[in-house]
Amino acid sequence: MLDSIFKDNLFEGKRVFITGGATGMGLGFAQSFLKHGAKVIIASRKKDKLSEAATLTEEKLGKKLLWKQMDVRQNETVEKVAEFIDSEWGGLDILINNAAGNFFAPLAAMSENAWRAVIDIVLDGTFRVSKACYPLLKKAKDDASIVNIIANYAWNAAPFVGHSGAAKAGVLNLTRTLALEWANDKIRVNALCPGVVLTENVKQNLLLDEKAAKTFEEYIPVGGITDPEKMAQQVLYLCSPAADVITGDMLIADGGQWLVGNAFYQMGKQFLDE
Ligand code: NAP
Repeated sequence: MLDSIFKDNLFEGKRVFITGGATGMGLGFAQSFLKHGAKVIIASRKKDKLSEAATLTEEKLGKKLLWKQMDVRQNETVEKVAEFIDSEWGGLDILINNAAGNFFAPLAAMSENAWRAVIDIVLDGTFRVSKACYPLLKKAKDDASIVNIIANYAWNAAPFVGHSGAAKAGVLNLTRTLALEWANDKIRVNALCPGVVLTENVKQNLLLDEKAAKTFEEYIPVGGITDPEKMAQQVLYLCSPAADVITGDMLIADGGQWLVGNAFYQMGKQFLDE
């Protein structure tokens, strides 16, 4: 496992909320913040995954990971979690908008429901959670931080993941807008664009076999397929005092993949031949 370059107590006493933090990268972010002294709450739809993540984390780190059930598509559940955080902690220092859904589908074959589901989770969900947390973030003693997790097709074409591409592009724009609107409240808002991480979700919905993963690997100039710990280091940096001059920006941590070519286009071409 990667050793952190940050001081153990860098986030001592900080209060962190991560959407979709029971699996994949979100859980990596949660454990990294805990290791650096923060209090962390995660929230998503599946109770069993949330409770399993909390148990495993307690066994691994001896630290409590709070969790609540929440669907970012349902505003009342989002507001309930924000109320819980306020009653438990009296405010919030860091919000990571990480929840997402994605699957391969050419736009011509995509149902309106499928399109709406991804936009609702990724773009609308980021808006809902950020808005519900705004009064809590305003109460932070020092700078507060939001990090929105996007993808490297957000500013480029997103062939065969068009719903996710449009949603992540919206999140990037929202990141910059909120950075300006909330600057006077000392809330920094940035985006992280991760590299390829073979989380369960990615294995089940995008890179279905080793050949697919290999195709992606060929498009990564440095670092190869990466892992949640490495991506967590980028998030920690964006939320750290060292980054207090950074807002409305995005950190692309994909090993230069986006510069090389569109791996999604190469992989999704099969849909054009069908
Ligand atoms: P993941 O393990 O599937 O994490 C996504 C999380 O979102 C899940 O824990 C899921 O939990 C939650 N979620 C989905 N729908 C939700 C809803 N309606 N309400 C609340 N939570 C919901 O995927 P990941 O690969 O770690 O991805 C994490 C983030 O990185 C995503 O934003 C993704 O787009 C981005 N990203 C990933 C990669 C990669 O290679 N993995 C690359 C670029 C960007 P429940 O099922 O319990 O709701």
